[in-house]
Amino acid sequence: MAKKTTTSQKTTPRQSKSRTRTPFRIGIMGGTFDPVHYGHLLAAEQARCEFKLEEVVFVPTGNPPHKITWEMSSAEHRYMMTMLATATNPHFDVSRTEIERKGTSFSIQTIREFQAEYSDNDAEIFFITGFDAVMELLTWSEPMEVIKRATVIAVTRPGYDSKQLHAALGGKVLSRIRLLQAPALAISSTDIRRRVSMGLPIKYLLPEPVEKYIIKNGLYKSAAR
Ligand code: NAP
Repeated sequence: MAKKTTTSQKTTPRQSKSRTRTPFRIGIMGGTFDPVHYGHLLAAEQARCEFKLEEVVFVPTGNPPHKITWEMSSAEHRYMMTMLATATNPHFDVSRTEIERKGTSFSIQTIREFQAEYSDNDAEIFFITGFDAVMELLTWSEPMEVIKRATVIAVTRPGYDSKQLHAALGGKVLSRIRLLQAPALAISSTDIRRRVSMGLPIKYLLPEPVEKYIIKNGLYKSAAR
């Protein structure tokens, strides 16, 4: 089905596909995506295959609740880059729900919205995000509701230590977390921002249309990033 590329449409958790096809297992890929890169894309595809998801919906954060240590690109830039990166995968989609929601982006609200949209289909929700973010899960809004309503998939970077997760979350919460080892997550958004600010190449770290978008819009030039 065709992806919608306009930014002016009504926002729903997954805004761009008709409801005639009703997925049972849905992945919500949560992240800042500043910028989105091949590590994210490979992890999402891996999650889709391993957890037998009908589709993975990328949900760029609007106003993250946690501290951001860099000058974050605008929501529209991050949304556009995510659209460009996912355009060729028919199982991927992008939602504007968090970037258009007023106030702080809480994942529990996004999960509830997806559940409401698919309530007639008894959907099973999988919330996919980075291992480091999941380590902080107990500081999120309504963490027990998050793990009640969704299976959380923590995507690991090479060299991660699973014991850290146990220490941070404890056994009860951990039983609702799945680990997904993603070697491609050696790529990081932080490193891409640093490379651009230093004038280093970023080719092959992210899809070419995203690279061109970054150059055209002069993103990440400031060393402060
Ligand atoms: P972040 O601090 O920007 O990223 C934390 C780490 O996770 C980074 O190493 C990042 O790598 C990696 N990462 C982020 N998203 C990923 C993904 N989808 N797949 C694989 N690795 C990923 O955290 P964030 O991206 O803003 O937050 C992650 C998600 O957790 C978002 O959906 C956010 O809304 C949610 N969250 C919710 C709450 C809450 O509800 N209160 C609180 C905190 C976070 P890269 O830099 O390479 O992406």
